[in-house]
Amino acid sequence: LRKGLFHLLFVALLTIVTQVGGVIYLFALLIRGRFRFGRLQLLFLFGSIYLVFTFTVIPLSASLTGRKPLPLSGDLRPLNFMTVLLNRHYVNEDLKKVIIKVNSDFAEKYPESSLNYLDANFPFWDGFPLFPHLSHDDGKKLDLAFQYKEQHTGIASRAPSIIGYGVYEAPKSGEDDYPEICERKGYWQYGLLGHLIPNSGQYIVDEDRTIFLINQLIRQEKISKIFIEPHLKRRWGFENESKIRFHGCQAVRHDDHIHLQIN
Ligand SMILES: [Zn+2]
Repeated sequence: LRKGLFHLLFVALLTIVTQVGGVIYLFALLIRGRFRFGRLQLLFLFGSIYLVFTFTVIPLSASLTGRKPLPLSGDLRPLNFMTVLLNRHYVNEDLKKVIIKVNSDFAEKYPESSLNYLDANFPFWDGFPLFPHLSHDDGKKLDLAFQYKEQHTGIASRAPSIIGYGVYEAPKSGEDDYPEICERKGYWQYGLLGHLIPNSGQYIVDEDRTIFLINQLIRQEKISKIFIEPHLKRRWGFENESKIRFHGCQAVRHDDHIHLQIN
């Protein structure tokens, strides 16, 4: 019984984190039943099937049902390859077209930097949320990392947070401070990640490139909403941009990444 419970928990965890992993694990269990594999062999079997599926079966079948994987390398790429390994890099066709267009404009202006994406959506099933982002459930949402540079050399770089989230471009004194406001209202999750993610300390936001990127996003007709923290909206000169909204205290801080969504 205890074994059964363990398998069940593992299936639940894999489903929450990767969507498809739970089913693949059940599949591996089924195969193991025929061959009397031990625990290590089971894990190896699961890992192999999972990887093969992640790079072949899943992108193909997701495309048939309306979602496409974002590019794995090049100018537009995952900030952290785990995003791809966990199958969290799927968007619908419209969003893929939009972001590829934004990327080509961006790459033309800044050929030395890349556009780094964070969490997108799972491959299948509208309404299945990409934990912990409850709204990323329909192929129409995407998070992008800010643009960063090395503090001392100014060279374009990846991000101070290894996952792209959790290292904040915090409000300065006198600016709108929603992290403070939301925390006071009792939304303890709002800035939670900041306590968990270490700052590598070598990189700072490149405002020119980040502002250019946000401007390109605003210009895309299909993009309906963009979330960044209110103090950055003002600091970066976007006060009058109606597409840039405040996401609300029930979400998390958006002074570490850009959230965008299409109609
Ligand atoms: Zn988002």
